[in-house]
Amino acid sequence: MFSYRHAFHAGNHADVLKHITLIATLRHLMRKDAGLTLVDTHAGAGLYRLDGDHSRTGGEADDGVLRLMSVLRPGNGAPLTAPEAVEDYLDLIAAFNPDGRLRIYPGSPFVMHHLMRATSRDRLKLFELHPTDGRTLSGNVAQLEAGRQIAVLRQDGFEGLKPLLPPPPSATGSRRALVLIDPSYELKTDYAQVTACIEDSLRRFATGTYLVWYPIIPRPQAHELPKRLRSLANQARKPWLHATLSIGQAPGSPAQPGHAGLRASGMFVINPPHTLKASLQAALPVLLQHLGRGRGQGQTLETGGGG
Ligand code: SAM
Repeated sequence: MFSYRHAFHAGNHADVLKHITLIATLRHLMRKDAGLTLVDTHAGAGLYRLDGDHSRTGGEADDGVLRLMSVLRPGNGAPLTAPEAVEDYLDLIAAFNPDGRLRIYPGSPFVMHHLMRATSRDRLKLFELHPTDGRTLSGNVAQLEAGRQIAVLRQDGFEGLKPLLPPPPSATGSRRALVLIDPSYELKTDYAQVTACIEDSLRRFATGTYLVWYPIIPRPQAHELPKRLRSLANQARKPWLHATLSIGQAPGSPAQPGHAGLRASGMFVINPPHTLKASLQAALPVLLQHLGRGRGQGQTLETGGGG
């Protein structure tokens, strides 16, 4: 427990897929005035340095946001046009790096904060259990001076989510929530906890939008997770979307990757906005074109459910 630090992985291909999906989902939800409850059950430290020791150890951002930015927003040439979801992602990252050098990577808490509205009674609840990352997150969030709009809770995110659902009604009476569930899966029990958490959350608040990230690795629990989530969404008669991105095996890399050598991951979204499929349909081939490394690379996008 607690050996995982997201600083080693920030901005890698998995973060690219996760944060593009998150931004495209939030953009749509923010079109309605009604306030939104945002929950990040596994928040991490909030902000990461891409030029720091942690990030440079594995160089994972090189095959993620740094590659994408250098190809699509070259410093010495005209930027290439990319699909809206990719542009939106790069714009958001660029906003954290106003001098044009990509050094700061915003994690999901800062992605969410960047898109939430101060005026619409949006609320952000962040859970982080790691003592160091929890402290760093609190410090980073304190600088935003967001007052009661953001709460940092150094608690277990699976348990902490329960009393937040259903969310309080907005001024117009509607209840709306987006929940990102993004564990490190360093414990095998995380897979079963995610399933239990989604089952419980759908019982408490069936119309919430739930986004689950998971690694695609040769482990039965990882293979089973999207199938279980699909069954839960189908049982609840709720629509779902499942996107995967595999950047493939770099020439000369070992056949069995550890976490640092992660080559593929997926996002499972329950109650996705109706616009998300088209956004990812356009974005995924472009991600693959620029991030793909060879053998085993690919992308998939599937939707279903909704009774
Ligand atoms: N969501 C972040 C982002 O996209 O920027 C990355 C989160 S990282 C993959 C997972 C985080 O969950 C780690 O910082 C870890 O310390 C934390 N964590 C692990 N178990 C937890 C739990 N039960 N409740 C809350 N946080 C937990």
